[in-house]
Amino acid sequence: MLKKCRACGSTEVEIILDLGMMPLAGGFLNDKSEFSNEVKYDLKTYICNHCSLIQILDPVDPKILFTDYSFSSSTVLPLVKHFEDFAEWIVSKYKPRSVLEFGCNDGILLDPLKKLGIEVFGVDASPNIVQVAQKKGLDVTHAFFDFQFAKKHLMSNQKVDVISGSNAFAHNDKPETILEAAKSLLNNDGTLILEFMYAGDLFEQVQWDTLYHEHLTFYSLANISKLLEKHGFYVFDAIRLTMHGGSLRISAKTHNKIAKSNSYLKIQDYEKNILLNEPDTWKSFGIFVNRKINIVKEVLYNLSKNNSIWAYGAAGKATMWVNACELSFLEAVVDASPLRANKFMPGTHTPIVFPEKFKLKKPEYTFITAWNYAENIKKNEDWYKGLWATPLPNLMFF
Ligand SMILES: [Zn+2]
Repeated sequence: MLKKCRACGSTEVEIILDLGMMPLAGGFLNDKSEFSNEVKYDLKTYICNHCSLIQILDPVDPKILFTDYSFSSSTVLPLVKHFEDFAEWIVSKYKPRSVLEFGCNDGILLDPLKKLGIEVFGVDASPNIVQVAQKKGLDVTHAFFDFQFAKKHLMSNQKVDVISGSNAFAHNDKPETILEAAKSLLNNDGTLILEFMYAGDLFEQVQWDTLYHEHLTFYSLANISKLLEKHGFYVFDAIRLTMHGGSLRISAKTHNKIAKSNSYLKIQDYEKNILLNEPDTWKSFGIFVNRKINIVKEVLYNLSKNNSIWAYGAAGKATMWVNACELSFLEAVVDASPLRANKFMPGTHTPIVFPEKFKLKKPEYTFITAWNYAENIKKNEDWYKGLWATPLPNLMFF
């Protein structure tokens, strides 16, 4: 089938990174009997030569990705803080009476909003997560956020002042369905607020290890503004956030009577300065990433011939590193989360163990897949006398 850009519909899309068949980043295996049934999916990242959108164009069925979604946001403390701040930000900036959030997870934003006296509604596609939110007494529906849902919602409810979506919009293959639903549910002067992982951070920090099946799209400010405008929304504010290695929060209305904020203009300038919206920038990025992967692959493989090597951190990024670099020689992966420890890594089937086991075995090398937390990990495991390795920005041993 002819591939088309998710935002502008152009067929001028081109592969910048081809990782071949990869398992799902969160596809941990519970026991050995699951090894033979493991499914892998094509993982290619494309650039649109027309609007420069970075996207994965072979989406995995969302029913497979999100039916038994094991990520409950409220178990991650920095995220709880992020959403408490976000709730206060929404209330002080837009003073809404009501907020509807799509992809609301376990109510991590709705809960603090409700405590601030706002009428809140949520919708999420994962039935098990919706149950968690409902147990907190929140008005949350299990559904995909589309026109169908909007119609049903309006039969018993008023339109709302704010619609928000955090880390949900960019993971949807059909952004137009979300925008259509949002348009029919928002009051005339209502605001649409979206948070998503930002293409600027992906580029700046070479975060290729976040380019996995769950993360379909990495928007820049330029291409999200263009996409929203095509569907009748005008972006007037944008803020950079540290969440998930670097995100963007944008605000939009269905009219363009509001001047663009200083922060919007600053980010617009930044994108121009680093040529973020030039296809050539991203083509070089792809070449650069392939080089990084090959270096890690070769160096660790050679070391593995005479040394024991472990990895530290089993979250999404780890699946990318161990599979793209074919690190099947790793003896174990250390992770403190009960959601991952005692399971097996997707693809390489490396056993995942709690940190206690790390102390018993003392491997010669430990490759930190969660490289952005390297300092913390090193501090927590200060007894370790072997060599640590981090892959980015350059492969380093310390
Ligand atoms: Zn495009």
